[in-house]
Amino acid sequence: MSSFKTLDDLPADLTGEVALVRVDLNLPMKDGSATDLTRVEAVKPTILELAERGAKVLLLAHFGRPGGQRSSVLSTSMVVGDVEKVLGKEVMFIPEITGPVVAQSIGILRGGDIGLLDNTRFWPGEEANDPNLAQAIAANGTLYVNDAFSAVHRAHATTEGLAHFLPAYAGRSMEAELKALDAALGNPETPVAAVVGGAKVSTKLAVLEHLVGKVQHLIIGGGMANTFLAARGVNVGKSLCEHDLADTVAKIMDEADHAGCTVHLPYDVVVAKEFAANPASLRTCNVHEVEADEMILDLGPQAVEALGDVLKTCRTLVWNGPLGAFETPPFDAATVALARTTAALTLEGSLISVAGGGDTVAALAQAGASNDFSYVSTAGGAFLEWMEGRVLPGVAALEA
Ligand code: ADP
Ligand code: MG
Repeated sequence: MSSFKTLDDLPADLTGEVALVRVDLNLPMKDGSATDLTRVEAVKPTILELAERGAKVLLLAHFGRPGGQRSSVLSTSMVVGDVEKVLGKEVMFIPEITGPVVAQSIGILRGGDIGLLDNTRFWPGEEANDPNLAQAIAANGTLYVNDAFSAVHRAHATTEGLAHFLPAYAGRSMEAELKALDAALGNPETPVAAVVGGAKVSTKLAVLEHLVGKVQHLIIGGGMANTFLAARGVNVGKSLCEHDLADTVAKIMDEADHAGCTVHLPYDVVVAKEFAANPASLRTCNVHEVEADEMILDLGPQAVEALGDVLKTCRTLVWNGPLGAFETPPFDAATVALARTTAALTLEGSLISVAGGGDTVAALAQAGASNDFSYVSTAGGAFLEWMEGRVLPGVAALEA
């Protein structure tokens, strides 16, 4: 396990400390109000714990893309009410991130109080990871806590730079995410299976290339399976398919072979002539029987059963990408069925299951399976970069 410090490495009593806490408050907004407070819920334990232990807690977050300039509609003051609602505590808005205004505000706060600094991206040095900005922010704090896993793939002043100027700790949600990811690919119990689905091979090439050397079973679903099938000479009709990637796919299959990784492609698929809900032309067939005017829109039931059997032999599963066009019924069937099998194996204790990706999170929620996976990451871009085996600068800075 990689070594990063957590809140457990701090003294129990944090009276006198000023904790600068990087969080993700980039809430989805509609007509000026937040439509989903999941991101605030995620960082609530860290904030309340630091406050209860007596620290003054100063929250740092970006909000939208102001491009290094102040913008009244992108001020974090827009979400201060939402943060107060979720925390059940008053939060003082501070319209700066450095300097005397912040220092004076800290003077007003008592131990256990919470302040929210303005949008870090109003300052160009944030995204440029300017050490002068990081140092100026650090000057008002005594410790740095990063609880924004969703931002660790970016080396910005508040996601990476601050760790060089203050003692740095992972917050509780960061800690949970890093432990889950470590259990899934860092230091997993074997055999490990990976499900990679979604629309296109081209957007997930780096993921596939990394996984073939890491897992024993690589399960390909979604539109990506069409590209794999076509590369092996299967006629996939009108399916979403990247025919120009045949050589790339052949190379990945070769690498998998060398690494002892079994690549699983479907035997049967669900096809239709038009992409619509419950189309009249819907049928299930063997992959070799797809007609020229048909599209593959989901994996078939035999394939799903076979994949369930593979998962029964595995100890760890990492999943990114739906197996079919799950937004349109009944092309969610394979994703839902395999998600439920995964949930059941996880509950039994035979499988550690970690999933992530924007559409994957939605698909697992649709299957009612999210709560029964070991961990579902909502981090999007950071999760995918982790699946590519890339160094995440915000994590590396915590480990330094
Ligand atoms: P994630 O966001 O979880 O990383 P992706 O964005 O890569 O996943 O892919 C999700 C999209 O792939 C969904 O919109 C889904 O409808 C689409 N998809 C999956 N299978 C197919 C298919 N056979 N044909 C067309 N689209 C598909
Ligand atoms: Mg997506």
